[in-house]
Amino acid sequence: MNKEILVTRASMPSLEEYVKEIEPLWQTRWLTNMGEKHHELEEKLSEYLDVQNTVLFTNGHAALECILEVLGLQGEVITTPFTFASTTNAIVRKGLTPVFCDIRADDFTIDVSRIEEKITDKTCAILPVHVYGNLCDVEGIEEIALKHGLKVIYDAAHAFGVTKDNVGVGNFGDVSMFSFHATKVFNTIEGGAAVFADGSLREIFNQWKNFGITGPESVKYVGGNAKMNEFCAAMGLCNLRHVDAAIDKRRMLVERYRKLLADVPGIQLSVIQPGVESNYAYFPMVIDSQAFGHTRDEVFEELEKHHVHARKYFYPLTNTFESFGGRFDPHETPVALDIAQRVLTMPLYEDLAIEDVDRICSIILKMRKE
Ligand SMILES: *Cc1c(COP(=O)(O)O)cnc(C)c1O
Repeated sequence: MNKEILVTRASMPSLEEYVKEIEPLWQTRWLTNMGEKHHELEEKLSEYLDVQNTVLFTNGHAALECILEVLGLQGEVITTPFTFASTTNAIVRKGLTPVFCDIRADDFTIDVSRIEEKITDKTCAILPVHVYGNLCDVEGIEEIALKHGLKVIYDAAHAFGVTKDNVGVGNFGDVSMFSFHATKVFNTIEGGAAVFADGSLREIFNQWKNFGITGPESVKYVGGNAKMNEFCAAMGLCNLRHVDAAIDKRRMLVERYRKLLADVPGIQLSVIQPGVESNYAYFPMVIDSQAFGHTRDEVFEELEKHHVHARKYFYPLTNTFESFGGRFDPHETPVALDIAQRVLTMPLYEDLAIEDVDRICSIILKMRKE
């Protein structure tokens, strides 16, 4: 039997490195509430991401909810349904109305040419997603936001370390959210961050994640609890030392996938965006069943038979979720609807072997129409 290949596997430092990192905590007994590791990780991340401010959170989703609340948004938020549940849930949970804009078929990010038709007098913000490590059209979005006085919040959960013309992805928009979940390119086990240029937001983010406590005897507003603990921050400090090597390894694996799957009729790969240094977070392929001879689901099943676990990601679209009880019409985003039916992301993680990529591709190539 061939060995099982999962779609992802967390990057981890050596046990020795992690133990060394957490050892001081047995002296200080300072386990959470913005301790030394927390502080050090914020500084190192600001440096790595080349951003002015980084505020850590327990997870990316909590950061996103905090951002929406702290920016005082009300009304409609233009976003895309081709994303993880978190993006749309955060909007709805904050009492805002998501307005779904379609995506581009080549890089899966928001189709900027369709944003303006969605703007009404209730629109307060745009919340686009940098999908798979691809960058949104950040200039196009900024132009529209300036023209209409809208805030821009990026879901950059997939885009850790991505740059455009050497500018870190966290420098676009008003605030960006990163996720440091175990499955992401950089992880703190669970974790996330808000990054932003406006330094006046820092204090309020820090208070929000600690119940709205503003002083030893004062609580000025109703905050939540979303503080990253010292053990997670320590994991981040270790993983950050190796993240460049992890991205290099991912690049090599993606190049192999691309080489083996290039020019296969019926298999569309993501475009390579000019000037963008990707983090190779995911390797999606979009299957045209007419040209390839099999549907996405058939490819998925065939891989499963060989113990290779790909993922239908993103599928289903968030605007079709049962939880929204038919409130949204996915036919308003036809490109996203089509891509979601046909996309498959392949196994990709730091310690995936190049031979495994070869084996995965040979399973797919054998399915080809004669
Ligand atoms: C992972 C992810 C999130 C949520 O991040 P968590 O840290 O798991 O809360 C949000 N958006 C996207 C696109 C993601 O992939």
